[in-house]
Amino acid sequence: MAKLLEGKLVTAAMKEKQTLQVKELEAKGVTPTLGIIRVGERPDDISYEKGATKRCEGVGVAVKVFALPADCSQEQLLEVVAKVNEDASIHGVLIFRPLPKHMDDEVIRNALAPQKDIDGITDGSLAGVLTGKGNGFAPCTAQACIEILDHFGYELKGKRVVVVGRSLVVGKPLALMLTDRHATVTVCHTRTVDMPALCRTADIIVAAAGRAGVVSGEFFASGQVVIDVGINFGEDGKMCGDADFAAAQLIVDAITPVPGGVGTVTTSVLVGNVIAAALKSL
Ligand code: NAD
Repeated sequence: MAKLLEGKLVTAAMKEKQTLQVKELEAKGVTPTLGIIRVGERPDDISYEKGATKRCEGVGVAVKVFALPADCSQEQLLEVVAKVNEDASIHGVLIFRPLPKHMDDEVIRNALAPQKDIDGITDGSLAGVLTGKGNGFAPCTAQACIEILDHFGYELKGKRVVVVGRSLVVGKPLALMLTDRHATVTVCHTRTVDMPALCRTADIIVAAAGRAGVVSGEFFASGQVVIDVGINFGEDGKMCGDADFAAAQLIVDAITPVPGGVGTVTTSVLVGNVIAAALKSL
């Protein structure tokens, strides 16, 4: 049976470090603070907000929520973004997306001050992932995948990694980040020919397609590590990832569970980025 790469083991180690960093900041009179901007009341946004707030409070990071009605105008939202940009007591900002359809996502996300972009949503932050420069951060989910691999001691140098999915939030930035760590990376997407064969050659598979069961039994080979980013809901209503977990467990060496894997680490990366932004602001 494959080893379970449980997110809570990674977050526990991150929490220890973060608690110490917050104490250092408090000693200098700074309370690291996350600003959350939410438009509307989408249940998954509210659920993530609750989880992130709890995780922040657990290490002493403060949270300020700016909630706007779903029918607010783009100008009203831009005013709030400008307000948090100017507020020196807020170090990092999370803007829930997708935004309502009447808003221009590109305009809103790029209105955020780069140094407060703790989830890597501005074009500047994404450019920073490419160049290794810039004031922002990498997208938290992509970073969470790296944190998990590092925590469990998987060497990336020289390894073959196949990333399934090429979104700006996960697949593309993660492919660059893995390349920076000297892995050899293949990115698969909806037009890729013979994904199973490509995946079987990998040492590490990252599944980030957002489709339950896309990474099925024929994708796996012995000795592999599978990082499952997907969050889907199966026919039974239960949360599941992109990988066929039952099949993977019998073949691969290790796999992240869903829930309890990448998602939980992503929240801790977010908290860590708020602290890092506060440290940079000193
Ligand atoms: P997305 O829909 O923006 O991108 C999905 C990508 O997968 C696309 O590039 C698409 O080409 C590719 N894809 C889709 N179906 C495919 C298929 N059958 N074969 C090959 N490639 C395919 O999604 P996203 O925002 O990147 O999120 C991916 C998944 O990760 C979703 O399930 C999402 O809920 C989850 N997610 C998890 C976290 C977390 O913290 N765990 C954070 C963000 C997203």
